[in-house]
Amino acid sequence: MTRLTKLSRSVAGQVVVVTGAASGMGAATARLLADEGAHVGLVDRDAQALTAVADELSGAGARTHPVVADVAAQGVPAAAIAEIRDRLGPVDGLVNNAGIATVTGIDDEDFDARWSAAMDINLKAYAAFVRAALPDLCRDGSGRIVNVASTEALGATPRQLPYTVSKHGVVGLTRALAVDLGPRGVTVNCICPGPINTGMTAEIPDEAKAVFARRRTALRRYGDPEEVAHATLSLLLPAASYVTGAVLAVDGGLTARNA
Ligand code: NAD
Repeated sequence: MTRLTKLSRSVAGQVVVVTGAASGMGAATARLLADEGAHVGLVDRDAQALTAVADELSGAGARTHPVVADVAAQGVPAAAIAEIRDRLGPVDGLVNNAGIATVTGIDDEDFDARWSAAMDINLKAYAAFVRAALPDLCRDGSGRIVNVASTEALGATPRQLPYTVSKHGVVGLTRALAVDLGPRGVTVNCICPGPINTGMTAEIPDEAKAVFARRRTALRRYGDPEEVAHATLSLLLPAASYVTGAVLAVDGGLTARNA
């Protein structure tokens, strides 16, 4: 049949960089992008887990390049993007996803250390990766950036202060970048996952997860990383060309539910 519309729903052949790709939503996003024919640059500080994901992707026939590095370390974003460009070609899409959870209170001993770590990894590194990939993303007026925030960007949970502030910052970063990069044709959007079964939530007992999900989400369950990956992919598509500055909750209805 002759196609009746112009915009493509395929990322085949595009180079997409995913940070925090060794686990959870980053790994699920990398797998989905590989399934869809993208060439995937993978960045994570967990060498063993990243190698396993990279091997899985290349075993399935994907073009991929893993970079083992701490996203918050000086010089890493520029070096990682340069290495991926060298191996896979110029970057078409960036998924800023690497993140850490912090549990601390404003008057706790470890507050300053937790604050710095959350800001450096969850927020500053996101901007640094954008800066590193920007010449590529701007080159043909169709670059895509997806920042993974959290429902902690839309409200606050007790004793997660640095995490909550960093994730609110990701929403601000997304909107500010959308406005600044719009004239260059780059779209910048943000995903706010709710409770998802990943490495970050692995230590929460199943019973506690079930109780939380029943009380707080519309769908009455935790989400799977792949369910978030599909939302991320939708924002990376060429067809998402008029979506920018958007903040998309992928939270099983957590933020919609009052009672
Ligand atoms: P995860 O722990 O399974 O994966 C996070 C990955 O990021 C890990 O592989 C880890 O090694 C990597 N990473 C962390 N710090 C890094 C650093 N400094 N340099 C390089 N790599 C680093 O967790 P996840 O849940 O998949 O988290 C992905 C994103 O989703 C994070 O930004 C997180 O804040 C966010 N998020 C998670 C949930 C949830 O319920 N799991 C909810 C909302 C938002």
